[in-house]
Amino acid sequence: MTANLLDFDLEGLAAFCAQLGEKRFRAVQLFRWIHQRGARDFDQMTDLAKSLRDKLRGCARIEGLPVITQQESADGTIKWLFDVRDGNAVEAVFIPEDDRGTLCVSSQAGCAVGCRFCSTGHQGFSRNLTTGEILAQLWFAEHALRDRRKSSERVISNVVMMGMGEPLQNYGALVPALRAMLDDHGYGLSRRRVTVSTSGVVPMMDRLAQDCPVALAVSLHAPNDPLRDNLVPLNRKYPLAELLDACNRYLQHAPRDFITFEYCMLDGVNDQPEHARQLVDLVRHHGGHGVSCKLNLIPFNPFPASGLTRSPNTRVAAFAKLLSDAGIVTTVRKTRGDDIDAACGQLAGDVRDRTRVGERIAQQRTVILKQVPAAAAAKEG
Ligand code: SAH
Ligand code: SF4
Repeated sequence: MTANLLDFDLEGLAAFCAQLGEKRFRAVQLFRWIHQRGARDFDQMTDLAKSLRDKLRGCARIEGLPVITQQESADGTIKWLFDVRDGNAVEAVFIPEDDRGTLCVSSQAGCAVGCRFCSTGHQGFSRNLTTGEILAQLWFAEHALRDRRKSSERVISNVVMMGMGEPLQNYGALVPALRAMLDDHGYGLSRRRVTVSTSGVVPMMDRLAQDCPVALAVSLHAPNDPLRDNLVPLNRKYPLAELLDACNRYLQHAPRDFITFEYCMLDGVNDQPEHARQLVDLVRHHGGHGVSCKLNLIPFNPFPASGLTRSPNTRVAAFAKLLSDAGIVTTVRKTRGDDIDAACGQLAGDVRDRTRVGERIAQQRTVILKQVPAAAAAKEG
């Protein structure tokens, strides 16, 4: 089996080239051909000696992911469904804005965390993506978009690891992919423009701070442990106090001086004034000095199996106002691409559930979330 060169960051590629008896600058040339110019074929690499190209052809390949479908929204959002074999498929979404182009990238086929409000979570977990499969989403999207625009200018300026999967449960594959995104010989993205979103895998947050500190988004969704245990099952392992401590440790290394907390607004579940007050208290006073953060409220994107509904706009606005009035920078995420099911949490791809997480959630659905009143939850918490 030949090596897929999309599986390497620059250091990995340099090590691979060293095994072939090639110097580091050859790895740099190769890396630039692949990531900056979108080469898929060694014959395109005209400044590499023919003997090297022949050698590479014998032991290496540049293999992206087959595209199953491409859908385009009225607002310009584009969603690709990629085949990752064995009946699994993952999605990536491009979101164009005036001043930036953001790609939302998947890290796993499915997700084992099993959050109630997430369509990926409901599908269960199949497997981790490889570094090559994570990077292939960016490699493909960037070059497909350039071809479309008939331009060699960079299109994607921001990457958010907010597609399918929990990136910090696929740490080994994630880090080299992030490094290739940041590398000046790769995509040259700034650390502030690459965001890892996590449901709160505390030990891996600490490792990321050391290995590859990029912008961090933490999916909070609840201001107290009983409610968060219910919405984000990982909270039972890493409860809020530990999670917020980890956020403060991360901030010592982060490229930005705040953490983005994501909060999905679920009708009657976590959207009451009492929740907002608890949230203010939590982020203001945790550990004595609070956590430097911004709040991003995400109106829930419904899908039938969830049994949940989106908070009405007025309630989202009232919640946002309570936070803003308390001095917390709060934004409400605009929904993009919902006509093609490309909005947050709607990415379902196609997953062969091997862990039965999906089944478990389906069974638990009978537990009515609305029965966890904020006040009672606060007392327990
Ligand atoms: N596993 C990571 C990253 C992927 S999910 C995480 O959970 O952070 C990206 C964001 O979309 C998370 O904040 C997630 O909570 C949110 N999300 C999931 N399902 C959603 C839904 N149905 N509507 C709105 N946001 C959702
Ligand atoms: Fe996994 Fe994130 Fe979905 Fe939770 S919200 S199930 S962690 S992808």
